[in-house]
Amino acid sequence: MSGCGLFLCSVAARFCRAPAAFTVSRRPLLTSPPSRAFAKDLFLGKIQKKEVFPFPEVSQDELKEINQFVGPVEKFFTEEVDSRKIDQEGRIPDETLEKLKSLGLFGTQVPEEYGGLGLSNTMYARLGEVIGLDASIAVTLAAHQAIGLKGIILAGSKEQKARYLPRLASGEHVAAFCLTEPASGSDAASIRTRATLSADKRHYILNGAKVWITNGGLANVFTVFAKTEVVDSDGSVKDKITAFIVERDFGGVTNGKPEDKMGIRGSNTCEVHFENTRVPVENVLGEVGGGFKVAMNILNSGRFSMGSTVAGMLKKLIEMTAEYACTRRQFGRSLSEFGLIQEKFALMAQKAYVMESMAYLTAAMLDAPGFPDCSIEAAMVKVFSSEGAWTCVSEALQVLGGAGYVRDYPHERLLRDSRILLIFEGTNEILRMYIALTGLQHAGRILTARVNELKRGNVTTIMETVGQRLRDSLGRTVDLGLTGKLGVVHPSLADGAHKLEENVYYFGRSVETLLLRFGKTIVEEQLVLKRVANVLINLYGMAAVLSRASRSIRLGLRDHDHEVLLASIFCSEAYHQNLFTLSQLDKHSPENLDELLKKVSQQILEKRAYICTHPLDRTS
Ligand SMILES: Cc1cc2nc3c(=O)[nH]c(=O)nc-3n(C[C@H](O)[C@H](O)[C@H](O)COP(=O)(O)OP(=O)(O)OC[C@H]3O[C@@H](n4cnc5c(N)ncnc54)[C@H](O)[C@@H]3O)c2cc1C
Repeated sequence: MSGCGLFLCSVAARFCRAPAAFTVSRRPLLTSPPSRAFAKDLFLGKIQKKEVFPFPEVSQDELKEINQFVGPVEKFFTEEVDSRKIDQEGRIPDETLEKLKSLGLFGTQVPEEYGGLGLSNTMYARLGEVIGLDASIAVTLAAHQAIGLKGIILAGSKEQKARYLPRLASGEHVAAFCLTEPASGSDAASIRTRATLSADKRHYILNGAKVWITNGGLANVFTVFAKTEVVDSDGSVKDKITAFIVERDFGGVTNGKPEDKMGIRGSNTCEVHFENTRVPVENVLGEVGGGFKVAMNILNSGRFSMGSTVAGMLKKLIEMTAEYACTRRQFGRSLSEFGLIQEKFALMAQKAYVMESMAYLTAAMLDAPGFPDCSIEAAMVKVFSSEGAWTCVSEALQVLGGAGYVRDYPHERLLRDSRILLIFEGTNEILRMYIALTGLQHAGRILTARVNELKRGNVTTIMETVGQRLRDSLGRTVDLGLTGKLGVVHPSLADGAHKLEENVYYFGRSVETLLLRFGKTIVEEQLVLKRVANVLINLYGMAAVLSRASRSIRLGLRDHDHEVLLASIFCSEAYHQNLFTLSQLDKHSPENLDELLKKVSQQILEKRAYICTHPLDRTS
């Protein structure tokens, strides 16, 4: 077990890195500043109350400013953007792109001093709700600023910012992010594109092929990741990734034709090739050899916004689908009168409420002063909201029956559009591994001493543990201070709060047991890691909705009792799911079928086929 923390650290880093000390210039929000270990501390069975309670506030002035800005954008998206046409023609019309530029949407996160709007993460999340109404536009804008130019904001020098950001903010130039390659997708560290320093040391000569590059055919400025030779402190030469700002005008940059995609068809996705492209050394982004960190920081910082973007789409979807359910009649009644149809609306509202709460909570954490590390929280928002989008759109389509399957209604397009969310910005499999391993690494570091004592047979530690387990087995009452005298959750939500506290306590106990049981080898236990991530995502969702609904009651917000219902339903469902998942994490759990599942898949993959004999076959 000793060194388990460190080992997990390097593996988690291969999946994704936590943000380092990059400066982001943006307008601060007047939200109460949380510090930053909420998700990680859940692995220790602790709730850092002040991280999520009370739910973050924006000032009246900020709210006014956000609404003034969002109003015209919403009007444009509702009245002028023709999503059906964009999908059918596979491109965003030039006049739509021009209007997006004139609304300032190409520079929302670019600091004001460089001609952008310098929106905080909270404001960006609010805007995302509107932009998400058209997935092709949302992806185009996100590729431009959430990943394409984000590296310049996070890691760029003053000169690089001054040179590139103004024209990117206005939309005169479009940006793209070039990481993925034919042989390097999830394993980003394995890229082969190479940048070699020229003899006069003034340029890097860039060669390689990138695939799936959003805006690849439109962009003038690319953030490109390539392998470079780096001399280490011990004098040895190693290949490390370096990030570069590459202009199309540098020469040798070409792109393939747009991919014929299932969804987000209006966004431009293509291969981009670099052939002897001469990149001035001044265009290295961050440190030579520090490119992997730059890439992960860019990706980590943008993921949280998927929560509000999807929630915005779901709110519209609920409206459209409810209208249909209330007017379409079958068996002499409207569809809305059937329990199985009603259940779908409760599900959609619940998912939208949870992802919105998680997204705004995470946005406020990211807006806090300093260099907040919210990479686990952001990854959880991404996983929850992408899967929520897929489930909800599918359920909404089901409400429409056959009508949902044809193009007269937007549901089939939304279903196609939402599928990508589980794949890009880190696949959900990779993110689950990242969420679990990063948290286990944190817990491993703190628990190493205790686990070593247990392994060495330290009598006091063993007695303490046995006592703890005995009390656990008798069904202890867990009180982590969410309710009661110094409580932060409103009494109307006490039941949900107790469920969260109990889940968190037993999650902490499970983490300790897992570290003891698997040690370093836990990195290979993907089914275990998936469960750890799933419990954590539920815990974060529970905390977010309890915090938000408590605030809504306290302020007497309109329809706060509806919020209490949604929060209570989610907490209860998540609690029971967590109990089941935690029981599966037990070594001798009858609920755990992993060995059987592994056997089945091994047999299939060995033969590369479905291997059961046909039901009509006979032996003679
Ligand atoms: C429409 C679209 C736009 C995109 N835009 C960009 C862009 O602008 N810039 C850019 O650089 N990239 C972009 N990408 C690439 C995208 O980020 C990758 O597709 C993604 O990272 C997955 O890589 P891959 O497709 O090679 O899948 P693979 O890495 O081959 O993965 C295939 C499957 O295996 C799973 N898997 C892989 N490794 C593991 C593991 N260790 N454990 C468990 N499961 C694993 C994955 O989760 C996935 O389900 C885009 C992709 C698409 C489709």
